[in-house]
Amino acid sequence: MIEYASFNGAPREHGMLIGGEWVPALAGETIDIITPVDRTRVIARTPRGRGEDADRAVKAARAAYPGWAATTAATRQLILSQIADDLEVLIEDLAVLTALDTGNAIRTQARPEANGLVQAFRYFAGLAAEVKGVTLPSPAGALSYTRRVPLGVVAAILPWNSPLMIAAFKLPAALASGNTVVLKAAEDAPLTILALAEVCQRHLPPGVLNVVTGYGPEVGQALVEHEGVDKVSFTGSSVTGAGVAAKAGARLAHFSLELGGKSPSIVFPDSDTDDVVEQVLIASRFARQGQSCTSGSRLFLHDDIHDSFLDRLVARVGTLVVGDPREEASDIGAIINERQWNSVQGYIDDGLAQEGVEVAYDGRASLTVGEPGFYHAPMILTQVCNDWRIAREEIFGPVLSVLRWRDEDEVVAMANDSHYGLAAFVFCRDIGAALRTAHRVESGWVQVNQGGGQLAGQSYGGMKASGQGREYSLEGMLEGFTQIQQINVSLV
Ligand code: NAD
Repeated sequence: MIEYASFNGAPREHGMLIGGEWVPALAGETIDIITPVDRTRVIARTPRGRGEDADRAVKAARAAYPGWAATTAATRQLILSQIADDLEVLIEDLAVLTALDTGNAIRTQARPEANGLVQAFRYFAGLAAEVKGVTLPSPAGALSYTRRVPLGVVAAILPWNSPLMIAAFKLPAALASGNTVVLKAAEDAPLTILALAEVCQRHLPPGVLNVVTGYGPEVGQALVEHEGVDKVSFTGSSVTGAGVAAKAGARLAHFSLELGGKSPSIVFPDSDTDDVVEQVLIASRFARQGQSCTSGSRLFLHDDIHDSFLDRLVARVGTLVVGDPREEASDIGAIINERQWNSVQGYIDDGLAQEGVEVAYDGRASLTVGEPGFYHAPMILTQVCNDWRIAREEIFGPVLSVLRWRDEDEVVAMANDSHYGLAAFVFCRDIGAALRTAHRVESGWVQVNQGGGQLAGQSYGGMKASGQGREYSLEGMLEGFTQIQQINVSLV
């Protein structure tokens, strides 16, 4: 049983994992962790790490690196598999903790996230032996080959919206390929990451995984700037990511970025069905309060089906239950914090103030939960123009902007008229038109006739301002966490 938060009792006091020990911040400062389901409850306290704590964690990771890099692939595979087995036993605990920590509803999001974490550890365990080079055709008397070697110490910086899922993209891949890691948990949702670390620590040598907690501009930035960090693997907002890239780039460290999105969902006239409504709903990520980087938050409906499809969608959205994320009955949980709640409200107000906007669905009137949690009901706005803020900026809330289209070129142009390029969804029975469109959309991940269905092994990542690099796949592991060493040998 993981006891990483206390809803009713005194807040749990946590340490950071550095060099195999759970330690407070050197300055002794802490951060109160409140749960999105109740703004009055401090459920835990974590250390407020700063530069000196980042330094300790990086030194621990550096000290552990030669030993870990020298382990055989078989050993790393075994250890990652053992971690997966232990995590599997704890899926329910991790799901409840995710619900309390992030506000993500247990049935629709938190439990699948915990399951995905186990799958990712199993997947990358199996890939440990795939960190291999190639032999080049060489003249007689020569041997030329490459080796894939780890990068060294990886600083992995996580966001709050689905911490276990994002950790699953980074941690097992970095470990399987022989790197040591400093994870930086998000200040708003660090508890599942601490629980994950506790399980990993049972199997990993001290210092191979370290976890720091604290604010981004303090301990996070210190990691990015630290000379002992060879690679920064960042997931978060595009604005923060640009700063991280500039700082890591300035000292010529490796970096990869998984950033924000404003992804299009395109529905063709042949797809006005209840099944497609279901998939568009999944794509909207309403069930994650819209707090998903891959949310299909711009819905492009063909003119011929606009009204009919919208009617179906509105009817279905009206059945969604917004409620306590720990309850099985809840489809939609709570927004992470007050700042984010206010930001979502600001976007709704801005959208409502636009000339010509129409409200297709406003769930606020029927919202039965609210204070002291941060609950937002879904909102669907239609007749939206692609240049309004609600169509251009990442809202990260349950707000869907609906736009009309008539012709394929027009909708592709509108979909691509965005500085983001993370995900896209195309709904069309004519497979030729569907794939033509999928290939023309400037997004790192395009789904056709489905709203969700991420697979361990797919290359995950964004185009344009949505990121650089790919994760969650063999090629992501090789490109993101290893480098090539070329060896040329004379045999004479
Ligand atoms: P954020 O950028 O505010 O923070 C992300 C992480 O970076 C946090 O741990 C934070 O403490 C840290 N950080 C902040 N300032 C820093 C600095 N100066 N130096 C180093 N680290 C710093 O993002 P967020 O609000 O936590 O997460 C939401 C954002 O993440 C959204 O934009 C969302 O789209 C994006 N996201 C992207 C993906 C993806 O895979 N592309 C996945 C999930 C979330």
